[in-house]
Amino acid sequence: MSAHLPSLRIVVDNQAAVGLVAEHGLSIWVETQNCRILFDTGQGNALRPNTECTKNDPAKADLLVLSHGHYDHTGAIDYVLQQNPEISVFAHPVILSQRYSIYSDKDPKIISMPEEQQLLIENLLDSHLNWIRKPTQIAPGIHLTGPIPRIHPLEDTGGPFFVDPEGKEPDPITDDMAMWIETPRGLLIICGCCHSGLINTVNYIRQASKEERIVGIMGGLHLKNASAARLVATTDALRDFNPEFIVPCHCTGDAAIDYFKQNLTTKITSGFAGFELNTGDMQ
Ligand SMILES: [Zn+2]
Ligand SMILES: [Zn+2]
Repeated sequence: MSAHLPSLRIVVDNQAAVGLVAEHGLSIWVETQNCRILFDTGQGNALRPNTECTKNDPAKADLLVLSHGHYDHTGAIDYVLQQNPEISVFAHPVILSQRYSIYSDKDPKIISMPEEQQLLIENLLDSHLNWIRKPTQIAPGIHLTGPIPRIHPLEDTGGPFFVDPEGKEPDPITDDMAMWIETPRGLLIICGCCHSGLINTVNYIRQASKEERIVGIMGGLHLKNASAARLVATTDALRDFNPEFIVPCHCTGDAAIDYFKQNLTTKITSGFAGFELNTGDMQ
């Protein structure tokens, strides 16, 4: 297996295999011959027991990628740094901002990265912290997008997200980024929550990588609150992107997954903690 063909395992998700802990959050372990990457950490309670069970030991990871600064992706940074003080962290600086979700019938909910985790990031040495502001290769054949241009008229961040508790200023979640992995049959795209929108994300990756072929898409696609028009547009775009498989999980939403299954011929498998994908089998 070449170094360009990683294996992946979802280690934290809203759903979990028997014996693993489920929580609203996401974390994916990516492993090549030369490099191990932890993509997000979940919200804090599941990463430790799950990685102990799956033997994806954060102490052995080389890189920690934070897709964006929501609590459900950044809650176990303390555990990762405690196990692995030398790990290199990759994120966009806006991960440290204050943010809220505000539904009209409820009090504002703080959904930022927890303060104790923010402090740990702020105290990292420059040599261990890599701010990503543009498409960047972080390991052989593995890249991060940095901020993704918001172009499609029907795509939004996917919820009532604000930077203030009064709900005056919408949070554009500019820190949201995706990862892509080169494989012989095209790119494998990994999304955290996909707050930039799936169409915007895939189009930007195609442009940045100069590769049109998409072999697969895995991660949270945040389509729970998507309008019918957006769901149709996303499905049409997926038909055009023509991935061999999609592994939607975390915040994608069951209705969107069902809609994809009914309207696409692509293989669609809902992800869960414990799910494993070996890109070495894709040759
Ligand atoms: Zn999320
Ligand atoms: Zn999010």
